[in-house]
Amino acid sequence: MSGYLDESEFMMVEEGFTTRDLLENLLMEVSQTSDKGAFFVADLGDVVKKHLRFLKALPHVKPFYAVKCNSSEGVVRTLAALGAGFDCANKTQSTMTPVGKPTFLHLCLVLRRIPGLTPALISPGADPYTLLVMPLLQTEIALVQSIGVPPDKIIYTNPCKQISQIKYAASHGVQLMAFDNEVELRKVARSHPHARMVLCIATDNPRSSAFLSVKFGATLKSCRHLLETAKEMNVEIVGISFHVGSGCLDLKAFPRSIADARLVFEMGAELGYKMHLLDIGGGFPGTENSKVRFEEIAATINSALDLYFPEGCGVEIIAKPGRYYVASAFTLAVNVIDKQEVPLDPPGSDDEESSSKKNILYYINDGIYGSFSCIFFDRTCPSPVLHKKPGPHHPLFNSSLWGPSCDGQDCIADGLELPELQVGDWLTFENMGAYTIAASSSFNGYQQPRINYTMSREAVRLLQGKLPLPEEEDRESMCTPLSCGWEITDTLCITPVFTPARIT
Ligand code: PLP
Repeated sequence: MSGYLDESEFMMVEEGFTTRDLLENLLMEVSQTSDKGAFFVADLGDVVKKHLRFLKALPHVKPFYAVKCNSSEGVVRTLAALGAGFDCANKTQSTMTPVGKPTFLHLCLVLRRIPGLTPALISPGADPYTLLVMPLLQTEIALVQSIGVPPDKIIYTNPCKQISQIKYAASHGVQLMAFDNEVELRKVARSHPHARMVLCIATDNPRSSAFLSVKFGATLKSCRHLLETAKEMNVEIVGISFHVGSGCLDLKAFPRSIADARLVFEMGAELGYKMHLLDIGGGFPGTENSKVRFEEIAATINSALDLYFPEGCGVEIIAKPGRYYVASAFTLAVNVIDKQEVPLDPPGSDDEESSSKKNILYYINDGIYGSFSCIFFDRTCPSPVLHKKPGPHHPLFNSSLWGPSCDGQDCIADGLELPELQVGDWLTFENMGAYTIAASSSFNGYQQPRINYTMSREAVRLLQGKLPLPEEEDRESMCTPLSCGWEITDTLCITPVFTPARIT
């Protein structure tokens, strides 16, 4: 698989055996042990499927996966094997490149168990202490390069970079970098003489779930000055980038920003620039229940590109999808660790009907400081799938789900109508791949859940080059069997169809 992904790193599933079957198997296994830790099932075939869908919908756009969205090893390796590029936002802190003895800080970090770090990630000759702290510090460029991704497949997109990190990029051959202000240009002029800069422009789309232009992006008014300043400083500008905001629901957002980018290309041409790169960022939906379909957004992009950057115009188009690639591939299983009944109304209330109703608080073993950190990003209320099917006339109770930390804000979902659950019951949450693990912390000493990677045999064969990449018109039909995902219609109660394990 182009040397990026080894079969020992995931469970291969045969045709007819779904991720749900695998999840059922794992739940059975785990239920027999005393350790009922939360865990993920990550369907790498779903990532392969998304890649094919991307190539079909946006045939003129090269994807650079936004590592910040989910930097788990299986995802990064799968996308590297598929030939995607990578959008990285950092390398590491300058103090984190130890040679010789570890510092006190290293020892503190080493003493913690670091999930997700396997020997396969370690490049030959690398310092073990650096490697141990890498995953905690979101060392994106180092992570991607450690698996063998060449520097020309990396774009360093953070427009505001620490000087030591600019130098790191320079010494590791990463040339493509974003900026949006004059101070950054000065830093780059001094620290990275071979940088190829992309001017990041602001977008006007506050309807995204995470609007980025409040923090990043040059206004159209300031672009001319920035382009002139870059010329004076001898900094090479190769293109324009934007990001419409994560979770973008406005179909006009991409065309609007592509038109703005055209204006800045023209501004650049007047100043003698020959820019040849347009980066249309991320913001594509990652799940099927999104209000806007990926293909609808892609259609608006294609029309705008035809108008402003037609084929043959000499401009290469790239995108930086994050959630699109990973959201639907990850399912999280959590265990109920405690529960308590509380009155629906505050003490002293004389509303008889409400005080006779049960109101149950459930405590589960992952929370908002862990994998449910996506609640901050997406402002959503995750809805659980019950593992145990309740009886037909089971009463439903007003229920809320709470994380394991000792913090009153650690509430995952409220106002749910659930049948009564018991300690030890399992709940699963779908679409948990984007901004979940990536933004989780070890607050209160809790560890990230283990990730169980899986992939269908057909997706494996495609990655091994034994199946040709489908022609454009065939790509959609190829998508279905590559993922070993499952269909769930009832979000609360599902009947698992158990098939004996056929994991090779
Ligand atoms: N590129 C940059 C610079 C970003 O900041 C982000 C996310 O905020 C992304 C790409 C990925 O965005 P998304 O996950 O919405 O596709």
